[in-house]
Amino acid sequence: MKKITAIIMAVVMIAAAFAGCGSNKTDSANKNTGKKTTDATVSEVKTATKGKLTMVTNAEFPPYEYKEGDKIIGIDAEVADLIAKKLGLELEIADVDFDSIIPGVQTGKYDMGMAGMTVTDERKQKVNFSDSYATGVQSIIVKDGGSIKSIDDLKGKKIGTQQGTTGYIYASDTPENGGYGEKNVIGYQNGALAVEALKSGKIDCVIIDNEPAKAYVAATTGLKILDTPYTKEQYAICFSKDNSELQTLVNNALNELKDSGELQKVVDKYIKAD
Ligand code: GLN
Repeated sequence: MKKITAIIMAVVMIAAAFAGCGSNKTDSANKNTGKKTTDATVSEVKTATKGKLTMVTNAEFPPYEYKEGDKIIGIDAEVADLIAKKLGLELEIADVDFDSIIPGVQTGKYDMGMAGMTVTDERKQKVNFSDSYATGVQSIIVKDGGSIKSIDDLKGKKIGTQQGTTGYIYASDTPENGGYGEKNVIGYQNGALAVEALKSGKIDCVIIDNEPAKAYVAATTGLKILDTPYTKEQYAICFSKDNSELQTLVNNALNELKDSGELQKVVDKYIKAD
């Protein structure tokens, strides 16, 4: 009798082990903890305001974030909204200058920064990043028929960028490092102001990420785009180093959106294939 019970127990245990394997597989998106965003732990997640997920951005970066009337829309805004819904939180968006995003996340004033933000080693010292959800490269916007015909004409020209961005960092570097020197580069508060300065002839070109470059050129007559030699950048969401629990949950939600195709759907809504 004892023997039969032992055999039955063994069969049950093996079956349970297999069932466990199966459920782990369906949960493959959540590599970090295995926790699904629907797990009970989600409701306990710490955020700046209870029940809300506060994303901070700079809403002058179409198609990732920009204003339509009073509303902030774009790829980042919509993806953040889908993430918030998965976590059972209400999305709130704060709009600040780009170089105020990381300090605001570091102090915990905002839960996460999402602003077409490139992952760099320097930023990694200050904040944690999610997995990447998009890529970008820097482009140069010039006046159609202006004095800059190719990237070789940039030396000694007045270059506009957005302050605190990778465009500023690359362009203001020394010529030995592929830049144009700090004194030739102006950091504007945002992309719209840089493009405005180009239109009115205060500067000769604007270095900015490719998708916003396309959006600004499409919305303005007399401008065109040149490519730069700068390599592909990875965009990711940043978090305070003190809230890795939120980082994990958001990352899991982001990966679920990637796997389900919902992320791509949002991208396709805003970026039409060339
Ligand atoms: N990708 C660039 C950076 O992270 C620009 C981002 C932005 O201006 N919103 O520096």
